[in-house]
Amino acid sequence: MIINVSEILKNYGEKIAVDGVIERENAEFLGERFVFIKPLTVKGIIINNGKTLKLNADVSAVVKTRCARCGCDIELPVEFCADEAFGQGGAVSEDEDITSFEGNEIIPDDIILNAFFMNIPTKSLCDENCKGLCLICGKNLNDGACGCEAEQDIDPRWAALAKIKNNMPDE
Ligand SMILES: [Zn+2]
Ligand SMILES: [Zn+2]
Repeated sequence: MIINVSEILKNYGEKIAVDGVIERENAEFLGERFVFIKPLTVKGIIINNGKTLKLNADVSAVVKTRCARCGCDIELPVEFCADEAFGQGGAVSEDEDITSFEGNEIIPDDIILNAFFMNIPTKSLCDENCKGLCLICGKNLNDGACGCEAEQDIDPRWAALAKIKNNMPDE
């Protein structure tokens, strides 16, 4: 999205409303792929506070991602308040908290996308009681038990004995 700030650039205290959408189909963060089901909407204001232009906005989106335990698709609504500072030209570039822009236009997509990922829970679950996948057979345990658990509980030495016993011919 492009925000034209020419009206507020000159005077301290001037502000404009921001109401737009950041169009992205998907994005990758820390190796995890997120597909946007509902695009990032940005609603708020930009105010000239003298040194910088401050963006204060409510950001929301719905992304599709995978459950960290069972891997099924989940829809994850994300909402947060963006609070970003923009400065015109290269003069502000030493300050990492200020995003520089040229001319009269601010393009906040990257900085808001970054903030968005900071607000996504690192491990999203389809359900807080998700049972995950069986470590042995890979079955989704939310669909029912797989029968591996019983064997897991057996002491491996006894399991070896049981195997020998099973292989012995019946007398
Ligand atoms: Zn799950
Ligand atoms: Zn299993």
